[in-house]
Amino acid sequence: MAPPVTLGELTAFLETIAPLHLQESYDNAGLLTGHPAMPVTGVMVALDMLEPVVEEARSLGCNVVVAHHPIIFRGLKSLTGRHYVERVVNKAIREGMALYAIHTNLDSVLDQGVNAEIGSRLGLTGLQILKPKAGTDPGAGIGMGAIGALPTPLGSDEFFRLLKEKMHAGVVRHTAWDDRPIRRVAVCGGAGSFLLPDAVEAGADALVTADFKYHEFFEADGRILVADIGHYETEACTIDLLHRLISRKFRTFATHSTTHRTNPVNYS
Ligand SMILES: [Zn+2]
Repeated sequence: MAPPVTLGELTAFLETIAPLHLQESYDNAGLLTGHPAMPVTGVMVALDMLEPVVEEARSLGCNVVVAHHPIIFRGLKSLTGRHYVERVVNKAIREGMALYAIHTNLDSVLDQGVNAEIGSRLGLTGLQILKPKAGTDPGAGIGMGAIGALPTPLGSDEFFRLLKEKMHAGVVRHTAWDDRPIRRVAVCGGAGSFLLPDAVEAGADALVTADFKYHEFFEADGRILVADIGHYETEACTIDLLHRLISRKFRTFATHSTTHRTNPVNYS
C-alpha cells in the first residue's frame, strides 16, 4: 500500500501551481491550521471555509479544507467564539481539521489559475494576463486579471445570457452599452474594479468581475462594458478547479467539493 500523503505534500503540490510568494501583501494565503506532517485522510474544497464546510468535511472523513478565501485575514486576538471567524478556527482545531487557503496567489497565475478558469468557462481564446506583476516578464503569465477573445462577437444581450449561463449568475449589474459587438473580454475573479484602466488600455470591449461600487461604474464612461456578476459568482468555479487539480494528482484519498453555497449575498 502506498504511504499516506502528508498535508505538507499536498500543500507543496498546490504551491507548485500557486507559489505563496505571489500572494498580495494584504493576503493571508497558506496553511492556517494543521501540521504539515499529518496524513491526509480526505480533502474538502470550498470557496469559503465556514463552519458548515468544516462540519461537512468531518462527516465525509476529510481532515483538510482547501479554500480560496482565508478565514483568518486580519489576524485573531482571541478565540472565544464570539465572532464567526473565531468559531470556525475553534472548530477546526477541535476537530483536527487543517485549513489551507490558496487565494491571491491563485489569482496571480495564468496557468491553472482562477482567471484562466473563468476564461475557459466563457470560451475565451488567446488568454493573457491583463496586468502583469511589476518586475515580471509580461509573457511569464503572472499578474492580475486576464484578457482573451470570444470565438464570435456577441451583442450585449447575448453576452449577458452567456455570463448567466456559464457563470451561474442570477443578476448582471452593468454599465450602459450600445450595439458595438463584444469580442475582447477582460475577466477578474472577485473584486476587480482596480483593473478598469488596464482593461480599457488593453482594448477590452467588456470587463467581467465583481464588487464594483456606484461611482466606479461611471469610470467606464462608455469606453467599456462593465459587467459585475457578483463576487461568489465569479469565483465559484475555483471549487471545480481545485477539485480537479487535487483529485488528478492524488489518488490515495478522496477529494470532495462542498455542497454548501457559501455566498453571504442573497438576491430577492
Ligand atoms: Zn474572492
